[in-house]
Amino acid sequence: MDKRRIIFAFIAFALVAGLIALQKSLKGDVARVIDGDTFVLKTGQHIRLIGINAPELHHPTLGEEPYGREAKGHLEKLIMGKKVRLELDVQTHDKYGRLLAYAYVGKIFVNAKMVEDGYAQVMTIPPNVKYQHLFLKLQREAMEKERGLWERRFVVDKSKGIYHLPSCPLLKTIASKNKVEMRAKEITDNKYKPCDVCKPILSSPPLEKGKGEYVGNKSSKKFHRLDCPWAKKISEKNRLYFTTREEAIKQGYTPCLVCKP
Ligand SMILES: [Zn+2]
Ligand SMILES: [Zn+2]
Repeated sequence: MDKRRIIFAFIAFALVAGLIALQKSLKGDVARVIDGDTFVLKTGQHIRLIGINAPELHHPTLGEEPYGREAKGHLEKLIMGKKVRLELDVQTHDKYGRLLAYAYVGKIFVNAKMVEDGYAQVMTIPPNVKYQHLFLKLQREAMEKERGLWERRFVVDKSKGIYHLPSCPLLKTIASKNKVEMRAKEITDNKYKPCDVCKPILSSPPLEKGKGEYVGNKSSKKFHRLDCPWAKKISEKNRLYFTTREEAIKQGYTPCLVCKP
């Protein structure tokens, strides 16, 4: 037997073994939810949902990201203790050995539901792009309706009756007893005035009309308002500017959760 044949036989065996392993993992019982995009089956296999990204509970540098707990709670409600059916895409595992999958509970498409309800952002990593257009469409709806993490919150300076974006630099100069977090409705009801520096907008503009200037980070694929503290940290070579939110989103960028562009 020549060398090539041996190699071929070995590759064929590896492929079949791999396929059998995958077939087995296509259904499973959920034992534990780690965060809004990752869970563990009773077998111990970790599953990372494809095409979405939820705020992390244990970010290496940021700690708990805003809405991390809510996102985890939402995924728990959808799948905890239930049987899931898993669908795979082109790449089956990530570098951490997690199985990359689309998950279904009955007729509910879990990845899509997390985006639709506003508890996860779209994050497309080629080659796993099968449902990216559906996810982007659902994300637009969630943003426009301000569901989940897209809900706008502001900080009111009670002593002056002025409201700010949570990222406004002036907030540092206000005593904490005068600062109150509020939603748009409460601000309208109380007739508070917008800050001249951060120029907060109470309702999100329709995506097509939301003109302004935004900056994207080519490596994280997030985009920001120009005055966002995170935007200022983007290195020159990773910067990409957009004039509309839609332009950024069409190119696969997701809005920053701090400045909510
Ligand atoms: Zn301000
Ligand atoms: Zn930002």
